[in-house]
Amino acid sequence: METLYIVIPCYNEEAMLPITARALIEKMDTLIAEEKIAPNSKVMFVDDGSKDKTWSLIERFNRSCDLFTGVKLSRNKGHQNALLAGLMTAKNYADIIVSMDADLQDDINALDGFLQKRAEGCEIVYGVRSSREKDTAFKRFTAQSYYKVLSHLGVDIVYNHADYRLMSKRAVEALEEFDEVNLFLRGIVPLVGFKSDIVTYERAERQAGESKYPLKKMLSFAIEGITSFSVKPIRFITWLGFFIFLVAIILLIYFLVIHFIGKTVAGWTTMVVSVWALGGLQLLAIGIIGEYIGKIYLETKSRPKYIIETNLEEKD
Ligand code: UDP
Ligand code: MG
Repeated sequence: METLYIVIPCYNEEAMLPITARALIEKMDTLIAEEKIAPNSKVMFVDDGSKDKTWSLIERFNRSCDLFTGVKLSRNKGHQNALLAGLMTAKNYADIIVSMDADLQDDINALDGFLQKRAEGCEIVYGVRSSREKDTAFKRFTAQSYYKVLSHLGVDIVYNHADYRLMSKRAVEALEEFDEVNLFLRGIVPLVGFKSDIVTYERAERQAGESKYPLKKMLSFAIEGITSFSVKPIRFITWLGFFIFLVAIILLIYFLVIHFIGKTVAGWTTMVVSVWALGGLQLLAIGIIGEYIGKIYLETKSRPKYIIETNLEEKD
């Protein structure tokens, strides 16, 4: 039997944690009783620099029940980094690791399916939402168009999969080899390879607390996903520049012909329009290129992605 660790990043989740903990005790006890996982399996909460009582709750769970353990990051580093911190810590104690959110939006009963696939020899099992009925129409639409854009740009990503997945110790160790600072885990994990499969589940609504992903964070996460994995935007600019140059030459010939025929040049409109159009395009181009230079800047610094302040696993 394999030891399972469930890794849960938590940021200001005091409202949600007691509910989550209760649900997980029940689920883990069942899985242990059914001998699907080893009795020393645990739930590892990663406190991502919360400002509320999240960490003291985690410590309390840890004291009252062997099932719970926790890691505290030295400050808020965002969902992806917190998740990575959890995976890298958990792999020292576990054979298989499942990552999920604190809000129980991901159906914990999909764990049976995950373990089933694991028994069939998968190193990675992706949780995939069967529908998005519970999301707002806006979130559904933006998310779906986003997946389409990503796949057009050649980013290998599992459709409708968030960060609910099972990974073996081996897969997590392989993931560790990826050194990038700009983290977009759901794009990196498929690059790890190995035998993998998907399990579908229904996604529920958040039961307590608020979404930590407001529109602004969602947008920057989306841009992160594209620029970390695809250089197609740069190529697109090259083609655009080429095309505009071509148009400019055709226009030049046209104006020269008109000039020699002797008609007056209709100057003003053309001038103003082209100045604005080109100015705008140049700014856009510089912006996109800057995005990549920013990435290079961050990668060359190779700052630590997270710093662990306390690891309850090492306390006793
Ligand atoms: N989270 C985190 N650090 C952050 C923001 C969020 O660890 O800076 C955690 C949060 O506690 C939750 C998960 O990431 O467990 C997903 O966040 P949320 O449910 O708010 O996102 P949504 O489901 O609305 O996309
Ligand atoms: Mg959520």
